[in-house]
Amino acid sequence: MGSAKRTVNDRIEELRRQIREHEHRYYVLGQPVISDYEFDQLMRELQRLEQENPELITPDSPSQRVGGEPAKEFPTHPFSRPMLSLENAYSEEELKDWARRVVQLARAEEVDYVAELKIDGLSVALIYENGLLSKGVTRGDGRTGEVVTGNVRTIRSIPLRLHEDVSVEIRGEIFLGLKAFRQLNDEREQAGEPRFANPRNAAAGSLRQLDPAIAARRPLDFYGYAIFPTLPLQSENLKRITKLGLKVNPHRKLCRSVEEILDFYHHWEEQRDGLDYEIDGVVVKVNSIQIQEKLGSTSKSPRWAIAVKFRPRQATTKLLNIRIQVGRTGALTPVAVLEPVQLGGTTIRNATLHNEDEIERLGLQINDRVLLERGGDVIPKIVSVVEQAPDRRPFQMPSRCPVCGGEVYRPEGEAVRRCLSQTCPAKLKEALLHWASRKAMKIDGLGERLVDQLVEKHLVRDVSGLYRLSQEQLEDLERVGPKSAENLLREIDASRSLEFWRLLFGLGIRHVGERTAQILAKHFGSIERLQNASQEELEQVHEIGPKLAESIYRFLKQPENRELIKRLEASGLPMKSDDVQPDRETKVFEGKTFVLTGTLQGLSREEATKLIEQRGGRVTSSVSKKTNFVLAGSDPGSKLDKARKLGVQILDEQQFRAML
Ligand SMILES: [Zn+2]
Repeated sequence: MGSAKRTVNDRIEELRRQIREHEHRYYVLGQPVISDYEFDQLMRELQRLEQENPELITPDSPSQRVGGEPAKEFPTHPFSRPMLSLENAYSEEELKDWARRVVQLARAEEVDYVAELKIDGLSVALIYENGLLSKGVTRGDGRTGEVVTGNVRTIRSIPLRLHEDVSVEIRGEIFLGLKAFRQLNDEREQAGEPRFANPRNAAAGSLRQLDPAIAARRPLDFYGYAIFPTLPLQSENLKRITKLGLKVNPHRKLCRSVEEILDFYHHWEEQRDGLDYEIDGVVVKVNSIQIQEKLGSTSKSPRWAIAVKFRPRQATTKLLNIRIQVGRTGALTPVAVLEPVQLGGTTIRNATLHNEDEIERLGLQINDRVLLERGGDVIPKIVSVVEQAPDRRPFQMPSRCPVCGGEVYRPEGEAVRRCLSQTCPAKLKEALLHWASRKAMKIDGLGERLVDQLVEKHLVRDVSGLYRLSQEQLEDLERVGPKSAENLLREIDASRSLEFWRLLFGLGIRHVGERTAQILAKHFGSIERLQNASQEELEQVHEIGPKLAESIYRFLKQPENRELIKRLEASGLPMKSDDVQPDRETKVFEGKTFVLTGTLQGLSREEATKLIEQRGGRVTSSVSKKTNFVLAGSDPGSKLDKARKLGVQILDEQQFRAML
């Protein structure tokens, strides 16, 4: 290795060491000492150095968490020690019986126990060889599990390298926190995908994704509870797992009697809502591993441990009515109105029903008696119909929005009906924020607090209302001085001279993102032509599928939306593209692959990439036989040599520009 290489290698090692330490502080200890920004800077530097020196990449590098290719199926792994499930106790009596048996079989005077929280997740085994994570395996049937290493590697609280170079197997629970769970479900609902029933299902679905890139977007977490080879005590094992760099749940207790176990149990049954993850009981284990071995296991479960389940938080009550809530995105959500009932210490009057399919699935009708359950969502849900009422009546989803009277529509394959009117008061706040966003009309001064006031004081009834606001009206609002009112008006005014596609994006047509808006603006050139386009014409546009075409078509046919567009036109907003060009002619790089290397004089890499992509080409990071062009600037790297070797055409900046 040359000395320059050695310096690079040292820097890479140093970066990895720092990143590992910060990941441990952030994800395991929850005590970060640098900002997210500073962390990103370290990671970027590492990624850049590794990209330039691919031969120095190692599998345990923190940059390699999401590296794996999507799998076709999961290989299996036979456990050397079976991963048994635990016996359950549903009452104090059952716990006491178990403890009596333990003392008897152990032939001991006294037995110590470790009580831990029973997290509602998925058990996995992490196999480390010489300190490196080599396998992550699901419990499977307890004898043979599925190898899901690629997905396990994406979990940031699981280190790819332990603090010591030891070979161990660490078992624990993978779970999804409640905050992350709710966010994931909201995103799925937005995207028209079905919601996960509970965090456990969401975690299971994520862990069994064949594509690790999907698992990487779900913020899964991990708590360890067992390690092999074992130390003499379970309490020591837990400390050992922490010392190796993994998380162990901090809520645990060394108990000397059943009474102490019960204290712990009752405490957490009361306090479980204060945690950001779901627990469904307490796990009690004999602390001494020697006694554990003496007690042994049945074919199903160990005799030295038991799961004491919490009482289910269920109740029955009568469904009085179903009313419709219109959300910020215009989604119509049915909500159950219930006869008030006590559940887990609070009075419950409402339960969510998610969507009309859920009502049908439950076979629910008004006046029925229903079984309620409180789980991961703060709002309880209806589990089943307990008794059909003689005077029951079916519920019908409305075909008009209960807030604005606008038409509602349920696209094929989606579970949710939405109000289509972009002037609906229920959607107004969201519509204004979207309109003002950076990718749309760039009205930076219009934040959430201001939008709330504008809507609540009825100063604005749709986005066109922004263009009629006066300095006096703005100054009357809370926390708006003359200066900021002036700035805001200037920004609003400036949005009149932005590109036409921004208006199309800003309108908030469902499924129309920035890129689609640009395609539409280019293809149709004006709002008039777009409004007159049939659904078939829309579908014929490159990159516009049937679902998108229908969404655009329906939106533009809505009388409320047409009126809104007229008002926007009257307010002086752009309704035409200046550069009307047919889509096809400019795709000079259609199907061509580029690799960039070195520094270009007049262009940044991002700009060059954009120019290529706009013309239908693709930019990849490494040179292969499939590469069509290498665009080389000054100080090109090894990519240029490789391109020469493979006979790939090399362009300098001037030649590249000539092709545009
Ligand atoms: Zn509406």
